[in-house]
Amino acid sequence: MLIVVYVIVYVFVFAIGAVIGSFLNVLIYRLPLGLDYVKGFSFCPACKHRLYPLDLVPIFSYLFLKRKCRYCGEPISPRYMTNEIIGGALACASWTAFMPPFGFLADTLPAGGALLLPIPNAEVILPLASTAIYFVVLCCLLTLAWIDHDTMEIPDRFHVIIAALGALAIFFGPDIGLKSHLIGIGVASVPLFIIMIVLLFARGVEAFGFGDIKLMAAAGFFLGWQHTLVALFLGIIIGGAYGVYLLATRKKGGQEHFAFGPALCAGIGIAMFAADPILNWYLGFL
Ligand SMILES: [Zn+2]
Repeated sequence: MLIVVYVIVYVFVFAIGAVIGSFLNVLIYRLPLGLDYVKGFSFCPACKHRLYPLDLVPIFSYLFLKRKCRYCGEPISPRYMTNEIIGGALACASWTAFMPPFGFLADTLPAGGALLLPIPNAEVILPLASTAIYFVVLCCLLTLAWIDHDTMEIPDRFHVIIAALGALAIFFGPDIGLKSHLIGIGVASVPLFIIMIVLLFARGVEAFGFGDIKLMAAAGFFLGWQHTLVALFLGIIIGGAYGVYLLATRKKGGQEHFAFGPALCAGIGIAMFAADPILNWYLGFL
C-alpha cells in the first residue's frame, strides 16, 4: 500500500513542478521584453489571442491541441512543454534528495538548522525547507539559461536571488560550513574573470560575459567551494561539447560565440545533487 502513497505523492510533486514550469515559460518570454509577468492574461505569441485555462493546462494542452494554437493554427514551440516537463522533473529531483523514503541528501543537513525553526516536528520541516530552496534555485537556473540562450544576457535579479538562497542554504542546505560557502564565491568566478581578461586583451575574444562570472559567484556561495569546482568542471565540458556540436553542424562559425550560461547552469544543477559521487569517482583516478 505504501508504494501507492509514494506514487500519488510523486504525481502531486510533478504536477506542482509542471505548473511552476509553465509560469517560468511566461518569465522566459516576458522578462527580456520588459512585459509585466504577473498581471495580464496569457496570450498566444503569434496571434496575441487571449488563452483560457483549458489552453494552459501544462503538458496536456500542448498534446490535445495537436501542437497548434487553437485560434490561429500557428505551431506552438515544443519549448513550452519541455520546460513544463523539466519543471516537474526538477521538483521530483529536489523532493527525492531530501524527503523520505529516499532523502539521499537529508543526512547532510545541519543539526543546527532545525533549531532555527520554532515549529514542532522539525525533522520534516527542515528537509521540506531544503527541498523548496533547491527547487527555487533550479527554477532560477532553468529560467536564466533560456534567457541567456535567447538574449546572450543574464538579468541581475537571478544572481541576487541565487545569492540570497545561498544565505538560506547555510542553515537549510547540506552542512558544509560557512567558510566553504564564502570561498565558493571566488573559487570559480575569479579564474573565469582572469581567463576573460586574458582572452580579451591577448586575442580580442569574448569567451565569457560578466553574467557568467556573477552566476558562478552566486552559485559558488550557494554550493560551497568543493561543489562549485565540480559545477565549473561539468559546465566547461558541457559547454565545450555544445560548441563542438555547433561547429560540426555549422550552426555557428568559429568566430561567433554562443551563450555559455546554459552550460554553467547544467553544471550547477548536476553538482547540486551529484557533486560528491562525481568528486569521489574523479579522485579515484588520482
Ligand atoms: Zn495563436
